[in-house]
Amino acid sequence: MSNAYFNIQEPKNEPYNSYAPGTPERESLKKRLKELKSEVIEIPAIINGKEVRTENTSDVVMPHNHGHKLATLHQCGEKEVNMAIEAALEAQKKWAVMPWEERVAIFQKAADLVTGPWRDTMNASTMLGQSKTPQQAEIEAAGELADFLRFNAWYLAKIMNEQPYSPDGVWNRVEYRPLEGFIFAVSPFNFTAIAGNLPTSPAMCGNVVLWKPSTDSVYSNYFFMKLLKEAGLPDGVINFVPGRGAGVGDPVLNSEHFSGIHYTGSVPTFNHLWKTIGKNIDKYKTYPRVVGETGGKDFVFAHNSADIDELAIATLRAAYEYQGQKCSAASRMYVPESIWPGFREKFLGEVGKIKMGDVEDFTNFMGAVISRKAFDDITGYIDYAKEAEDAEIIAGGNYDDSVGFFVEPTVILTTNPKFKTMEEEIFGPVLTIYVYKDEKFDDALDLCDNTSPFALTGAIFAKDRYVIKKMSDRLRQTAGNFYINEKPTGAIVNQQPFGGARKSGTNDKAGSIINMLRWLSARAIKEVTVPPKDWRYPYMGEE
Ligand code: NAD
Repeated sequence: MSNAYFNIQEPKNEPYNSYAPGTPERESLKKRLKELKSEVIEIPAIINGKEVRTENTSDVVMPHNHGHKLATLHQCGEKEVNMAIEAALEAQKKWAVMPWEERVAIFQKAADLVTGPWRDTMNASTMLGQSKTPQQAEIEAAGELADFLRFNAWYLAKIMNEQPYSPDGVWNRVEYRPLEGFIFAVSPFNFTAIAGNLPTSPAMCGNVVLWKPSTDSVYSNYFFMKLLKEAGLPDGVINFVPGRGAGVGDPVLNSEHFSGIHYTGSVPTFNHLWKTIGKNIDKYKTYPRVVGETGGKDFVFAHNSADIDELAIATLRAAYEYQGQKCSAASRMYVPESIWPGFREKFLGEVGKIKMGDVEDFTNFMGAVISRKAFDDITGYIDYAKEAEDAEIIAGGNYDDSVGFFVEPTVILTTNPKFKTMEEEIFGPVLTIYVYKDEKFDDALDLCDNTSPFALTGAIFAKDRYVIKKMSDRLRQTAGNFYINEKPTGAIVNQQPFGGARKSGTNDKAGSIINMLRWLSARAIKEVTVPPKDWRYPYMGEE
């Protein structure tokens, strides 16, 4: 029963801790890192609120020290998926009819747990399991995750208030129902915040969820699942079903009750999922919502009016923070010939100062790449560039997997604007630069637009306002998140709604009202106060 219209105060973005020497948060985080490292935990599935162990286990290790085991993971298959579907559908009976403000209260509490008593756990587990520095963990595993939870609650409240016009004698209403069936949330390894957002945004809207985390980030994701329980999330609303892709995905997509997918990850996986959904379409009770944010080949495009220092710093951070493993990471760059010598000197000078290593050493700027597979893929591209005639490596290019999966920040210079590493997503610390002739500026803009199938993020650097306008217009379809004199990474919830088009996804903008609308199915209700009692219309009267 709701006996009032409830308001949610407009949230503020969570401020970040600095972890500078001498700060209390630094000591506290170091202590938590030590505690977590000192034990090997079990990560079971969580179905209907109960821990479920399976025969199929694997080791969870630290990317920067792969000899160190953090956890034993219990992987799910068809049996556990069927249990989870049953649990979700049962939970739906109560959850879907619970007033929205009661649901939202749970996630508001979850946000305050993330930024309060669980902050160190979320950050430390993200650092150890995904090889993030304190800064990279703090901005997302604490900051962005809490922002998602708080702002989504606020967006939902706004949606509930969105009601139609009613003329005299009629009361029109719109009810925002959750979808009938369950949602499948499939998350990538690279952001704990995204992993947390994918199941919670539909759940907040009254949906029930099967959440399949990435096996490469399952360590921090499991702690978040436990946090949700502490926040009061009822059993069965979100079911945690870790496992290898198809082992979980195939039985999920085979269920007649599947009603939507909330996905973030690579293009090949999304294409596979979409095709499977298409193949099974006759099975489903309702047309599923398909929401997917995928890869990027994000660019930095400099005009000759750009400030070299600003360009160098922004590009360095965008290309190498979190080892280039952000969907928004800068991985191709266009620089005019006239500023190239000055930019090259400044940029390579700064790249040469980057320190890489164990993320527990807070002096490091970079950690390791996520896994053996990622290491092999990235170094394959570096080796390709080493052999190529139309490219040379002008910084980095070395790698070492003896202790952890370390790849040096690498810069490839190419004379071929369609060089493989200008086109394909590498998802590692590799930036490829193409130097264009100043008088071929327009052609270079065309190249930027046409070179890669993606359109996620992009940044332009220029001082001349006519030029900024021209670049912005010409590159309209090249990025869903477009930056002017700013790096192409670091989108913030409620400030830059995030997502791209073309092969970068369905652009349903995580961290915005646009995304929340995807998890609701409106029912329009018309009620008439005094219904007519005669079927004849006045025009039918005799003259
Ligand atoms: P991935 O495609 O390897 O995996 C993504 C998820 O899909 C994982 O949980 C994986 O286990 C799962 N999966 C794989 N096959 C499956 C199947 N058959 N059924 C069900 N699930 C299946 O991606 P990743 O390496 O974890 O993440 C990196 C990718 O994510 C990059 O391409 C990056 O650009 C993209 N990404 C995009 C955004 C965005 O907002 N656009 C944000 C973060 C990451």
